[in-house]
Amino acid sequence: MPGGYTGKILRVNLTNKQISTLPTEKYLEFGGGHGIGSAVFFDLVGDQLPFEAFDPRNLIIMMASPFSGTFMPGSGRCEVQGLGPMLYPVEWFGHSNFGGRFTAQMKFAGWDGIVVEGASENPVYIDVVNDKVKIEDATNGVWGMDTWDAQQEISRRAVPGLRRGEWAELAQSCYTTQIPAVVACGPAGERKSRLAALLHGPGSQAALCGFGGVFGSKNLKAISFLGTGGVPIADPKAFMDARLWFRQFQWDVDNPRDAEIFEGSGYSLINGAPSGGNVTNGGPNRVPARAAACASCPRGCKMRLASADSNEAVCAGTMVANVGGGGMFGGFGRKPDPNAMPTALSQKLTRQANDLMHRYGLGHWQVMATRGYIEALAREGVIGKGKQIDFELPPSGSYAYHETMFRTIALREGPLGALACEGAARMAEKLGRYQKDVSSGLLKLTYYGTQEHYDSATQVEWGYGSILGERDLMLHQMSNYPLHWMAQSGNPYLDAEQASKLYAEAMVPYQDDRYLVDYGDGPTGIYSDSKVKQVAWVKHYEKFWIGAGGFCGWRWPQCITNNSADRRGATPNAEPRFWNAVTGQNKTFADYMELGHKIFTLDRAIWALQGRTRDMEVFPDYVYDQPTRGSVQPMVVDGKWTYATGQGRKLDRAKVEDWKTRFYKFEGYDPKTGIATRETLEKMGMKKVADALQKQGKLG
Ligand code: SF4
Repeated sequence: MPGGYTGKILRVNLTNKQISTLPTEKYLEFGGGHGIGSAVFFDLVGDQLPFEAFDPRNLIIMMASPFSGTFMPGSGRCEVQGLGPMLYPVEWFGHSNFGGRFTAQMKFAGWDGIVVEGASENPVYIDVVNDKVKIEDATNGVWGMDTWDAQQEISRRAVPGLRRGEWAELAQSCYTTQIPAVVACGPAGERKSRLAALLHGPGSQAALCGFGGVFGSKNLKAISFLGTGGVPIADPKAFMDARLWFRQFQWDVDNPRDAEIFEGSGYSLINGAPSGGNVTNGGPNRVPARAAACASCPRGCKMRLASADSNEAVCAGTMVANVGGGGMFGGFGRKPDPNAMPTALSQKLTRQANDLMHRYGLGHWQVMATRGYIEALAREGVIGKGKQIDFELPPSGSYAYHETMFRTIALREGPLGALACEGAARMAEKLGRYQKDVSSGLLKLTYYGTQEHYDSATQVEWGYGSILGERDLMLHQMSNYPLHWMAQSGNPYLDAEQASKLYAEAMVPYQDDRYLVDYGDGPTGIYSDSKVKQVAWVKHYEKFWIGAGGFCGWRWPQCITNNSADRRGATPNAEPRFWNAVTGQNKTFADYMELGHKIFTLDRAIWALQGRTRDMEVFPDYVYDQPTRGSVQPMVVDGKWTYATGQGRKLDRAKVEDWKTRFYKFEGYDPKTGIATRETLEKMGMKKVADALQKQGKLG
């Protein structure tokens, strides 16, 4: 096997309790993580599609990458795949991922991934210690626990002699100081909520697609890995050299570059400094905290707080609840109000309320959308005492409000819980309001039941990339953090012309196109061939480096950075340098991007087998019909680069459709259907995928 792989994928069938392996070698051409996961899914159940997410035939696939368990910066995330019950109207083959140290322990135990099939009759969890794999009874106290307690209890059961930081004996002559890495669903998952997440550690969520509900449908509470092995690296010296070379792109904690600019609040999330991810601990009453990190990540964007709340949660995982006004930005900018809850208390209760969400195992991003919809319906008089949905919530903004909301949804309590547990899309559908509310934008479920993240009419690669995928793109490091938030800071370190130039130069193999990040609506902007190339680049990067490489979307890609002398980022040099050092391969960035194209094409073939057609790949009406508030981005206006917002813009339906036609052609897909042609699939070595599509009459 090349470096970076253990050579085997664990296969567990919960129906017949059979434990076996799949050889990684068979799937090596797909790289790792998402790529191998898609290929395994297609091989094992592709010919049975379509079926539903809660059907025992659905798979839970959790894959590591070659980087897992190494010191590759900002990598090692666990890719989770399977049919996603949260997605709408079709439960598409979806993906989510989470950080922490799960894949490191998986690799140390000798596994490149795990595939779970079937469904157990009774609740169980899977316990893996090196090559010993057990399906354990979960009825004896574990089923019913919240996500935190379940992880701790399973750790105690897996290693009875465990004392934190001390040697524990795993088997004869086999010792460890490590605690098992456990991922669990909470009470929401046990009840098959479509909003249910998987939680690892105190705050690392696989938040999207409802995979906690799939665990519940399989009567699977958790998976635990503990290993005492290592990860082979093909060229350790080249790897260490790359690691040292990479330091120039990181925040230097001892001597940060231009600290007077980048330590300011406008840059606190995006400057690359440690502890920047927990947005509820940034206020005037900041609690002492130390940086915490996913295994291998030198950035350490997470925190462990002295108050022992909000640990390791970042971004949306800290933002859903807001008690007494102390939420998202810690009460910054609030006018002094003698009757208001003291800020320090408000912030603490906010952190604790968000922790409740993690403990119930609710996915932050979609709970946020569902909560917003519940509030809108309450304002309309649809929800309330004696109303159509007869349920009264405590006063908005109180701790009791959030506790009641999370419990009601997670436990399917009462008429509101029964509806909201199904997620906002199906809740709206059951109320007969889906079309009206999504079209009007009251409920902004912009991409297959997942809520709009950034403005679809201006940060268009996010919107296009989402509707051409299966859910919210969640790729912050393209237009969003580096460009939008840099300009939004009011003190951008690059002007629009400089930033767009560095971006274009990093975006191999399209580096000759100067207009890749033009977000204007002129001839080189959002409907142009440059945008075709940018979106193709984003999808290929997403599928290979983020998906197959387990990269963190908070760090990669890195086309520019405030931390280097010339503001160039690590992309496109770092990615192949690290990959080749670990695996021993010798390919270029462009070669790997073409593999991303292949994985994207395979995913789209799986969606086609589920019924995807071109006319599903559209935005809701409000995106075309309502003027946007805009979002500051580099744009070419009157022939000149500038930062502008695009305020008032509406996406033009006909132009979007024309853009899609050119995008499909560019990718080798039939523009009438959006599905890959036989020629494209065979060129990529996927003849069997072409045959499967043809059998169902779905070949492009
Ligand atoms: S940036 Fe944060 S979330 Fe991403 S890998 Fe590093 S510590 Fe984990």
